[in-house]
Amino acid sequence: MLIKEIGEFELIKRMSAGLNATGRPVIAGIGDDAAVLHPPEGKVQLVTTDMLVENVHFRLNTASPFQIGWRSLAVNISDIAAMGGEPTYAFISIGLPRDATVEFVDEIYSGMRKIAEAYSVDIVGGDTVSAPQLVINVALLGEVEAENLLLRSGAKAGDVLVVTGDLGGSDAGLNILEHNLTVEGTEKHLTPTPRVREGRLLAKSGYVTSMIDISDGLASEVHHICQESGAGAKIYMKDIPLSHNVRRVAKLISKKPHDLALYGGEDFELLFTCQPDKVPSLAKKMLENCDTSLTAVGQIIGVSGSITIEDTLGNTISLGPRGYDHFAPSS
Ligand code: ADP
Ligand code: MG
Repeated sequence: MLIKEIGEFELIKRMSAGLNATGRPVIAGIGDDAAVLHPPEGKVQLVTTDMLVENVHFRLNTASPFQIGWRSLAVNISDIAAMGGEPTYAFISIGLPRDATVEFVDEIYSGMRKIAEAYSVDIVGGDTVSAPQLVINVALLGEVEAENLLLRSGAKAGDVLVVTGDLGGSDAGLNILEHNLTVEGTEKHLTPTPRVREGRLLAKSGYVTSMIDISDGLASEVHHICQESGAGAKIYMKDIPLSHNVRRVAKLISKKPHDLALYGGEDFELLFTCQPDKVPSLAKKMLENCDTSLTAVGQIIGVSGSITIEDTLGNTISLGPRGYDHFAPSS
């Protein structure tokens, strides 16, 4: 069924069914001119927004509408996780091509409902317009106790750089899709699972000095932490935890496996800094509570802006940011 057969208002009614599912109190949600929410009690308010555009962030021939819906909320939830917070309310603005079907939109919202439920998020508003291609913008609110808030700044010389989980799996998945490889392993790319529980544990530990989520590749995120903290860093390539399918996919596309982790991005793992003696107890707790591993991949040094990597042969070379840059000159 085409959207124009039911009209915008009927479509909004359809999309908004069952979106305030957590039971968190909302004074006014979908249906009025603005949502009316209670400010977080005794906590600070987090706000983040991210936009996904067809053929820039996803392709309709490789991602299902369910996965696109899931992913559009996931990338925002990851930003809240990176602050040590918990997501609360979301606003979904969607631009739909005129020939989109109602079933297509239903599927997008079914992906959103699913991840919203998994992470206790209430969708309480948005906007719906027609657009030449599918565009989804999510604005997400979250909250965190002021004392547990984690910023990109705060890394100190002598801290270690630690990552949750493993890296490169999303880029491996993307390459499987783009190169039509007949191997499995696209979930990490298509339906990423943001690290909210992990972020909360780290924030509440009191040991973490800075944190960021890995959306643009490890190299780029190390640069961000160093820039905001006025520090430098050294990464050890041999210590970077690679996802199980990274080596296999890298071989098939003639790339170096570590490059997928360093420059591929969209793993939505967390990168944080803390004093080295805190790592063992944090890692133990993380494994017990979240079943997630922690791996130290480098250290913070006092020389601001000096960011290097020791490769697997023991050579120390400069590490450029090289993350995904939307406005970089195309090569
Ligand atoms: P207005 O004309 O005042 O902007 P709309 O007709 O755009 O109102 O929206 C009506 C209600 O539906 C609002 O509460 C808005 O937040 C909600 N809404 C509109 N589009 C979406 C969407 N894509 N997802 C969730 N809620 C939406
Ligand atoms: Mg509107």
